[in-house]
Formats: sequence, C-alpha cells, structure tokens
Amino acid sequence: MLITNATIVTLDRSNRVIADGAVFIEDGIIREIGKTAALRKKHRREKKVEDAGGMVLMPGLINAHMHLYSTLARGMALPGEPPIDFEQILQHLWWRLDKALRPEDLRVSALVPLITGIRAGTTTVIDHHASPNAVDGSLDILADAVRDTGVRAALCYEVSDRDGPEIARLGIAENVRFLTRVNQERSPMLRGHFGLHAQFTIEDATLRESCEAARDQGVGVHIHCAEGFADLADAMQRHGCTPVERLAQHGALGPGTILAHCVHINEDDRLLIRDSDTFVTHQPRSNMNNAVGAMDLEQMRLAEVSLALGTDGMSNSMWDEVRACHLIHNHNTADPRIGMANAFEMLFLGNRALAERTFGVRIGQIARGCVADLILVDYHPPTPLTRDTVMGHVFFGMGEARVDSTMVDGRWLMRRGRLRLRGIDEAEIAAEAQARARRLWRRV
Ligand SMILES: [Zn+2]
Repeated sequence: MLITNATIVTLDRSNRVIADGAVFIEDGIIREIGKTAALRKKHRREKKVEDAGGMVLMPGLINAHMHLYSTLARGMALPGEPPIDFEQILQHLWWRLDKALRPEDLRVSALVPLITGIRAGTTTVIDHHASPNAVDGSLDILADAVRDTGVRAALCYEVSDRDGPEIARLGIAENVRFLTRVNQERSPMLRGHFGLHAQFTIEDATLRESCEAARDQGVGVHIHCAEGFADLADAMQRHGCTPVERLAQHGALGPGTILAHCVHINEDDRLLIRDSDTFVTHQPRSNMNNAVGAMDLEQMRLAEVSLALGTDGMSNSMWDEVRACHLIHNHNTADPRIGMANAFEMLFLGNRALAERTFGVRIGQIARGCVADLILVDYHPPTPLTRDTVMGHVFFGMGEARVDSTMVDGRWLMRRGRLRLRGIDEAEIAAEAQARARRLWRRV
C-alpha cells in the first residue's frame, strides 16, 4: 500500500516532518518514506494508493497502563458517604466492581475502550485486568476482543490475596496459562506480563510464587507500586522496607517489569529501579482523580528512570493524558520548563521503548522497518509544522483535532472516520454495555 499526500510527522531519530510525503507499506511493515512524487514514480504499479488528503500522518499512540475492565463503572453511584481517600476508593468502588464482574461482562467492557481508543488513535494497549469471581479464562476473553478490534495488546491478570488464597491461586494460574499460550504463539500482536495488584495486598508466599512463575515464563511483572501513601506505610509496617525494596528482594524488578505510578518512592528506590532497568508508568490524570499526589518527575529524570505514560482506565486517549502530564508538573513545580518536554518524551520515546521490549518489534516511529501502526490526524496547522515545532502542535492543536484514520499492522481499523471492524457494530456494543452495566450495578 502507498499512502500519499500526507504531512508526515515521523518522530524518528531525526524527528523529520515531511510535507507532501508518502509511505510505502508491505506485509504490515513500513518499507519506505519520502516525497509523494518520488514514491509514486517508484511504485507506479501499486494498485492500493490511499490519499491522505494533506492530513498529518504520525505513529499510532501507545497506552502503557490501562484497565479495560473499568468501563462499566462509569457514573456508578455508591451507597453511603463518598470515599475520603484512595483506600476507600479501592474498597468502595473498584474492589466491589471487580468482584461483581462476570465472564459475560468482560468482552463488552473491553470492546468499548478499544473502539474509543481506535477513534483517538491508540493502536497499542498494555492492560492490567481484575475480575476475582471470573478469573479462569478471563485473559482469553480480553484477547478475543483485542483480536476482533485489531489492536496490539499485552495483557495480564492482577494477582492479589485481598479476596483470599484461593482467588490468589487462580490468578497465578491464569497468568501462567495465558503466558504459556502467548509464548507459544509468539505473535507481535499479543503479549503478556505477569500481573500483580500491589504489594500491600500480596503476601510473601504469593509474591514468591508469582515472581518465580514470571521468571519461568521469561516475562516481567506488571504491578501498581507506591500509588497511594498506604502502600508505602504497609510495606514499612509489615516488611520494614519500601514497596520497591520488597519487590527487589523478590527479584521482581528487571527490564520486562512495569511499576505503575511510583508516587511515594525515595531516592534509593529510584536507583533500584534505574539499575534494574525497570520501567515506571505514569498516570497523571488518575493520580489527580484519586488525590494520591504527584510523581516527582524531576527526580525521576535526574535518576534516569525509564518512564512511560498510561491512562489507568481514565479513558483510552493518550492526547488528554499527555496534556494533563504537561500541566500537572508545571503547576506542581511552579516551573514552566518541567512539564511539556518531559510529557512529550514520555509518550513518544518512553512508550515506544516499552512497547519494543514488550512486543519485540520496532514500533512508534514512521521509519523504515517499523510496524505500520499509524494514524491520520485531521489537523491543518495554522503555524509552521517542523521538527522544532511538533511539540507545540501536539499540546496546543493536534490533541483537539479529530483522528481520521487508524492503522495497525498495515490494516486500517478506521478509515475516514468509519470503523472497519468485521462483526463489530458500535451501536450494538453500546446497547449491550448499557444493559450489562445496569445488571452489574445491581449486583454491586
Ligand atoms: Zn492501574
């Protein structure tokens, strides 16, 4: 396929912007990038030519930490007084919702954000799943939804002792079963981590067994770490160390591991994370929503911790997240130099690096040899769009523009605003979600 007449924002090493550019794609891989006239001439026999209409063509966006299962919580009223802190938010909302989820709720709960993600240009999702009364096979249900939408995803089940040892055991088994499957398939479209909820709901025996199983499967763990202050207080009280130290003692840190949040960590923790080459994902909107505090971005940068950006289920749009990231850190540090460049780097360099580790492909750039995960944004810049100004356009213009087309692995999932998903009807899914949400809320 030849895509012509695009303003290409490559986000490659030299951060080129190519006016009237074209991209040649073969077998789901970007083979050539150049000017439309030159590539048209070279590939004049190519029958599949797609006119981008002058829109911005750029890499698809990657969501580094997501909860597809959170969809049906939207607007759910809770009995009694509103939660006063993060612990109560977990106890009153999330741990009630996840227990009430049935296997038949999981597909629609995943499809809704996967589709809104396609509409927002999110082409890769790294998910963290919980459904304690529907554990066995839950990751296969999510994997089917992911396959049917064509999105690239890495899945895991969050093991926890909060619902008793039997459900913890089922969680470990589900991760092992699913990882055995994805390790056999070795598809660059579907990968997995070993999921863990957070150290404060995991006993030593469970943590030990989980970390051993993760090592056996050759993957890292994906866990919430020091999200709220309570996680730090719990680790200090029960184990005499920080959450990061406890995970390090169990051998959970390493290049495949994702620590989500790391709001309440210290300098020694940061060095443990950096030296083990562990990734931290940052979810600023969720942190603000749960009022857990803000990650110390400057200290993370100074310690050279690898950072990626996720949404934590707030939505599946990275545009809103990256802009929130910019604003919260400028605001928090009272320093207008901190937010924007770091937020930009996190989304476009950090998420790319994390996705390359996770999926084993080159991704996140319009560059030769990268997978053809790309989007067309209906954005016509009112000021010059060059390698030096891309960042300003992302934060002050493109984030509000419409994503017109979304491609994953060389296949259009959406073209000119219309989904191209076989067997998936958006209106039907919305109606089913409504019906299931009503029943789920009654159970909660
Ligand atoms: Zn999370």
